[in-house]
Amino acid sequence: MFDKIREACGIVGVYGHEEASTIAYLGLYALQHRGQESAGIVTVDSNYRAYEVKAMGLVSEIFNKENLTYLKGKMAIGHVRYSTTGSSVIENAQPIRVNYINGVLVVAHNGNLVNADIIRDELEKSGSIFETTVDSEVLIHLIAKYNKLNFIDAVKWSLNQIKGAFSFLIMNNDTLIAARDPNGFRPLEIGKLNDAYIVASETCAFDLINAKWIATVEPGEMVVFSKRGMKAIRFAERQRSAMCVFEFIYFARPDSMIFHRSVNDIRRGLGYQLGKEAPVAADVVIPVPDSGVCAAIGYAEATGIKYDMGLIRNHYVGRTFIEPSQEIRDFGVKLKLNPVREIIQNKRIVVVDDSIVRGTTSKKIIKMIRNAGAKEVHYRISSPPIINPCFFGMDFPTRSELIANTHTVEMIRKFLRADSLAYLSIEGLIKTVGGRKDKFCMACFDGDYPVDFREGQSKFSFEK
Ligand code: SF4
Repeated sequence: MFDKIREACGIVGVYGHEEASTIAYLGLYALQHRGQESAGIVTVDSNYRAYEVKAMGLVSEIFNKENLTYLKGKMAIGHVRYSTTGSSVIENAQPIRVNYINGVLVVAHNGNLVNADIIRDELEKSGSIFETTVDSEVLIHLIAKYNKLNFIDAVKWSLNQIKGAFSFLIMNNDTLIAARDPNGFRPLEIGKLNDAYIVASETCAFDLINAKWIATVEPGEMVVFSKRGMKAIRFAERQRSAMCVFEFIYFARPDSMIFHRSVNDIRRGLGYQLGKEAPVAADVVIPVPDSGVCAAIGYAEATGIKYDMGLIRNHYVGRTFIEPSQEIRDFGVKLKLNPVREIIQNKRIVVVDDSIVRGTTSKKIIKMIRNAGAKEVHYRISSPPIINPCFFGMDFPTRSELIANTHTVEMIRKFLRADSLAYLSIEGLIKTVGGRKDKFCMACFDGDYPVDFREGQSKFSFEK
């Protein structure tokens, strides 16, 4: 319904907790914003038996007291998903669980592998049978292929075959491993709850269960949780750092810490910088809720213009809502947003949003604000124009569908029917996230892809 780029997945792992399934469930609940098509939890008990619940839908719709009780064991992996590779069907829901010669093997993935097709092709030629169409399944096959190695070495070797963006959780009979790609595209954080370890895409998952953040899984590192405790092992040298800057702009929750930084601080800073770069004479600054809130506060701080909530979001729109007939135009946006007339009427309004993808929703929002009586509507975007797609685990439309790929800022302004339009500059973005472009992936803004996604990278070989 909303014209937004979507996060691909959220993952949570639990090691050593009596109620591992419930902890994983609560973690997924906090990470729901990272994927709303399907969710799953797999647990493993002390007899090395695995239990699985996976379904299409939201975390709150899928899990209940009965199935959480069924999920026995002190180890768990959970996953919420959008489909960026593979279609949106239950077979592609994660975690992926198999039984192989050494017992149970479970994998959950956040990211996108750029050489999965080549690996899959080789594996299929040598007899492997895949059960899903998702890129993540190749890791299962690689680990199984090297079943003669001990589990940690098999994982280490397998992680070195794959390329692209990955934060993985991998579990066998008695060990949980958290791994992050050598460029560090996606976040992966470690927390502790009494004697249990929790791993999650974002720290907001820890807050809900009163776990304490203790460490970050560093790029090129795998952290092993076993009866010997927690141990970090380097599986690959660090490559050029490529933390996804869009996690700060939009994807991650503002109450999370990722990449060692507060998302709220950065997001406010982006709005502040935007206010310095693109001020305008106006009466009130309003955010497009919820994602524009932090940046709008920053913009108001920088410009001295009053901040107010001129748009109210309805959080309770279910996916099952029956679409109204064609005659009722713009109904889609009105389902989610409603203007507060007293705040908007006869005012010059600055609207702050985090990004524009196709521009269709922004256009409807501006029309809605004008219909509520605004004198002027100035649109401000707390990120640079998105001109390129993502190949590292985000759900992007095609290049030609990105309005900034084919239109200038002035053309977009006319399309939106805004009185003025300004984006944050790339320099302003770099300055706000710490002044080092070489630390981040910003490819959707500048086209500088940190990993070559076009070919299958190095030729894959089973020889070792
Ligand atoms: S291309 Fe954009 S969305 Fe994708 S990883 Fe890079 S910064 Fe993030």
